[in-house]
Amino acid sequence: MLRVYALSCGSLEFDRSLFFPAEAPGTPFVAPVSSYLVVHPKGKLVFDTGISCEAPADPAGRLGKRVASLFAIRSGAGEDVVSQLATLGLRPDDIRYVANSHFHYDHCGCNASFPRAQFLVQRAELAIARAERSRYNAKDWDHPLEYREVDGEHDVFGDGSVLLLPTPGHTAGHQSLWIRAGERQFVLAADACYTREHLERTVLPSNAYDAAQMTLSLTMLRGLRERKGVELLYGHDAAQWDALPHAPQPLL
Ligand SMILES: [Zn+2]
Ligand SMILES: [Zn+2]
Repeated sequence: MLRVYALSCGSLEFDRSLFFPAEAPGTPFVAPVSSYLVVHPKGKLVFDTGISCEAPADPAGRLGKRVASLFAIRSGAGEDVVSQLATLGLRPDDIRYVANSHFHYDHCGCNASFPRAQFLVQRAELAIARAERSRYNAKDWDHPLEYREVDGEHDVFGDGSVLLLPTPGHTAGHQSLWIRAGERQFVLAADACYTREHLERTVLPSNAYDAAQMTLSLTMLRGLRERKGVELLYGHDAAQWDALPHAPQPLL
């Protein structure tokens, strides 16, 4: 039997035009940052690790001046993946797998807190991260961790219940997580789709790595949503997030 928990990792405030490039700048937008815990009989998996715990005290030092000037962290005490796991009586060493959707700072900022986990990341994402001119902040992901390259779809526990689903385009090797628990199914889209509005209007952010590929991933996600019983959980949708049960209450 599966259990799934939604873990609150704070919020980011920024200009709405970063998410909706056709709009004029000047309107603030607040986006929740999330992590998820999947409890499977064969082990526990964390999907995304949120923003670094060190970032609120020193945003420019930890995230870099450019990112810190665009995004303001709005996280309260206990809104980080390690504190959220503690509300369930768990420590990072209890986690067998961490899957990162991608290596943007709000999805892998606490990777270093899980030195005993095996990290499941798409090969294309690791290749871009390890490239000489990396697009990513090494402080987030480049630690002595066991990164296992995943190439395409991957059945984490071998029984079809927890599937890594490639959704490239936002970044080179973005992946989502498909949780299949009988009647109830979730796809944790992460940044393959920021909000419901992005899905319904096919809005792409200006920072897409490959816009054509991202459109294909959105079309695939839309197809899954139309299937009976598949709920799409968007990466940064405040209205949807606020309506979900959060840890310590289970989502599933
Ligand atoms: Zn992203
Ligand atoms: Zn994000």
